[in-house]
Amino acid sequence: LFITFEGGDGVGKTTQAALLQEWLEQQGRTVVRTREPGGTEVGVLIRDIVLHHRGEVAPRAEALLYAADRAHHVASVVRPALERGEVVIQDRYFDSSVAYQGAGRVLDADEVRGLSLWATGGLLPDATILLDLDHAAARARLDADDKPFDRLEAEEGAFHDRVREAFLALAAAEPERFVVVDAARDAGSIAAVIREFVAARLR
Ligand code: C5P
Ligand code: MG
Repeated sequence: LFITFEGGDGVGKTTQAALLQEWLEQQGRTVVRTREPGGTEVGVLIRDIVLHHRGEVAPRAEALLYAADRAHHVASVVRPALERGEVVIQDRYFDSSVAYQGAGRVLDADEVRGLSLWATGGLLPDATILLDLDHAAARARLDADDKPFDRLEAEEGAFHDRVREAFLALAAAEPERFVVVDAARDAGSIAAVIREFVAARLR
């Protein structure tokens, strides 16, 4: 089972991915929890380029860097784990590219999606959890946790609004794959909704 977490920065993806892993392991599942960009040694190098040279990298080049990270990660981590019958929980996948490189960076969303499908040999998630939160609330949460938020500071609110709308449109287009969770709720009740969604897919 391949489960992905999506949503903007500061919505709680990492927290919820960890809680889901804990619960699945209690059920006796073997779980690989990973992330992108940066889920491999090569990916860490690519992550450094996309995050620290933001704005210098042409939008198409940025999209290719994310796709390169994803191609290597899927080939070396995700597919092998799925072939061993393990559950993969991944923080961000190609929906992030459609939202960020597509809507955010104004590349064609279908082209971005096509690039990602080519990069991964067409690997789609079985289930995707979209944590939805408005930009101001996400920002406040990152502040409260004292997490770095250079991304949020560097980009205007309009960028984040486009990304959020793009995620919601992706979820609306594929209601079978997605669950959309209001990330303003407390972590415990969000985790409960996610467990129920995943449990239905394990049966
Ligand atoms: O979720 P994480 O903190 O690892 O994401 C790192 C940054 O990369 C975030 O600020 C996110 O906005 C950005 N990103 C992106 N395009 C992607 C994936 C992440 O712009 N496809
Ligand atoms: Mg995170």
